[in-house]
Formats: sequence, C-alpha cells, structure tokens
Amino acid sequence: MTFKALVASKSGDGVSAGVVDFDENDLMPGDVTVAVEYSTVNYKDGLALGGKSGIIQKYPLIAGIDLSGTVEASTCPGIEVGDRVVANSWGLSQTHHGGYAQKARLSGDWLVKIPAPLSTKDAMAIGTAGYTAMLCILALEHGGIAPDRGDILVTGANGGVGSIAVALLSDLGYRVVASTGRLEESDYLRELGAAEVIDRRTLSEPGKPVAGERWAGAVDSVGSHTLANVLAQTGYRGVVTACGLAQGLDLPGSVLPFILRNVTLAGIDSVNAPQAVRVEAWSRLARDLDLGKLARTTRMIGLADVPEVAAQILEGKVQGRTVVDVN
Ligand code: NDP
Repeated sequence: MTFKALVASKSGDGVSAGVVDFDENDLMPGDVTVAVEYSTVNYKDGLALGGKSGIIQKYPLIAGIDLSGTVEASTCPGIEVGDRVVANSWGLSQTHHGGYAQKARLSGDWLVKIPAPLSTKDAMAIGTAGYTAMLCILALEHGGIAPDRGDILVTGANGGVGSIAVALLSDLGYRVVASTGRLEESDYLRELGAAEVIDRRTLSEPGKPVAGERWAGAVDSVGSHTLANVLAQTGYRGVVTACGLAQGLDLPGSVLPFILRNVTLAGIDSVNAPQAVRVEAWSRLARDLDLGKLARTTRMIGLADVPEVAAQILEGKVQGRTVVDVN
C-alpha cells in the first residue's frame, strides 16, 4: 500500500522536497494510524523546508509539523477507530514523519481529540499557529489580564499566530491593537476584530528601556527590538507573551520593565506543551474562536504547493493561515 507524501531530502547544504508515493511499511512505529485529511503551513514548516534551521533531524522525512484526520487503527487506550484527532508538533517533521501525507503512524500520546464544533479542516486552519495564539491567551489570563485592564497589542498581526490572536482576543472582549508591516491589510485586521492598526516600524527599532505605559498585555510573535520595545511600553503588572522570532531571536532590552513595573514576560512553547495544556487550549479554541473569522483567515492549497508557500512564509508574504488538503 502506498500513499502520497511530501518528503524532505538532504540536498547539498539545503533541503529538497517533493511529492512521492510512500510505502506504508516505511512509516515509523506508533500505536495509532491516522487517515490524514489536512495539514497546514506554519512558519516552522518554512524553517524546516528551508533546510538551515536544523528542525528536520533525520532524512528522508515526511515534513509537516501538524496534521488532522480520522483514526484508522489504534492500540492506544482512549483513542478509538473513527476518532477525529489533531497532532501539533512533538516530534513531527523533526525526528518522526509529519503531516504532509495521506497517512500517519504516531504515538497516541501526541493526539488530541478535536472538540466539537471544530472540523478536521478547522483544526488545521487553527494549526500550531492558532493553538499557540491560545497558549498566549491562557498565559495572559494566568497573569491576571482581563479586558478591563486595557489594550492588548498583537505583533506580526497579519501572520498565522497574529491573525488568530486578534480574532480570539477581540471576541473575548479585549480592545486589540494590531501591529503590522502591511498597513494595506488594515481592513482585514479590522474585520478580525482589531480596534486599531499600527505600523510595526514604530516598534522595530532600538528604543528606550522604559517608555510610556501603553499596553496591558501583548502577544508577540516577532522578538528582537519589537519585543524589547513592547516590554518597555507595558503598564504596571502587565503580561507580555513571547512566542516567536520573525524579526530576530535577540532580546536587546533592559530589566527595568520587570523591576520598575512588575511586568511579566511569559515564554510560550507549543512543541512540548503538556497534554493537559493542549487539551485545555483546544477546548478553549472550540469555545472562543469565531469560525466565520477563522474561514476569513484561511486559504487552501495542495501537497505539491507546500514548498512554494513554505518559502513565502519565511519572507513574511503569507497572510493568515494556509490549510493543506493532502488528498
Ligand atoms: P507567519 O509568517 O504567518 O507570521 C509572522 C508575521 O510576523 C508576518 O506575517 C509579519 O506580520 C511579521 N514579520 C515578518 N517578518 C518580520 C520582521 N522582520 N519584523 C517584524 N515583523 C515581521 O508565522 P507564524 O504566525 O506561523 O509564526 C510566527 C512566529 O511564531 C514565528 O517566529 C514562529 O516560529 C513562532 N511560533 C512559535 C511557536 C512556539 O511554540 N513558540 C509556535 C508557533 C509559531 P506583518 O506582515 O503583519 O508585519
């Protein structure tokens, strides 16, 4: 039995990827087999297929850090044939075959049952990017942030994490300020729920160690000077969640926001998040995310289109979320 898969192979200094007929016998061990319906393209998929990040640790490997589909076979307690499931990260596209395929065999411990009313397609429209946006919101709430505390800034707002964060936060009653390098997409961001759109250049250059108190909290997927400036502009006992590095992985700031304003910098990791946290995030996504808004952030591509979109996402040219129909 073979199925279609996008396989990444080492090619000189880089990586090449192409759709092949993959033999089911070559899948890695796992107690659950999933008939995959959808995957998606995240920034990390761009990094993986770009070949310079070290994300893929063995070749050849089916790429794709996310998948959703229906369980075809299972010996994992609690996971039954016919369950609709989602997998985000863990070893997918790192050490284990990933989601850009019509079939996956993996550990049942990596799976979350997709909560109603989400479909398998919705689950990939959300993907790691949207699930990470929810992890950020859970961290804001954990830090005591609520809509009456003031404005929440979302950086990289046109991206996957950013778009879903804007939609979720506005539906939860927050006044959301969206920072973007694509001001021409302001209408899109306002439709998702942004009350105000600002130019990311106001945040991306070196700034003061502390500045006027502007934000009650922030979801930052950008890092570098942007994150340092966001921290400097965050108000007393505010919470800034750091999940990304689209501008850079440096953090050229000072300790003053922490020791003068009691600001919390909350780190967000989606890859190894404990299962209980994942289940909570997915159940909150099912409850809080407006599926109409989700559809507006999403476009659909096929397996063969993935390498091109993966290259575009690294250039900051992809808006919102891209779902991959693997069939
Ligand atoms: P996207 O490419 O969809 O979004 C990133 C956005 O960042 C872009 O759309 C752009 O938004 C903005 N951006 C791009 N380049 C720059 C730049 N040089 N300076 C400032 N802003 C820039 O990626 P994702 O949403 O999938 O991921 C966002 C980040 O979060 C990535 O760094 C990714 O690795 C990270 N991530 C981390 C996770 C974790 O577990 N910690 C999980 C998921 C993602 P705009 O055009 O609006 O300015």
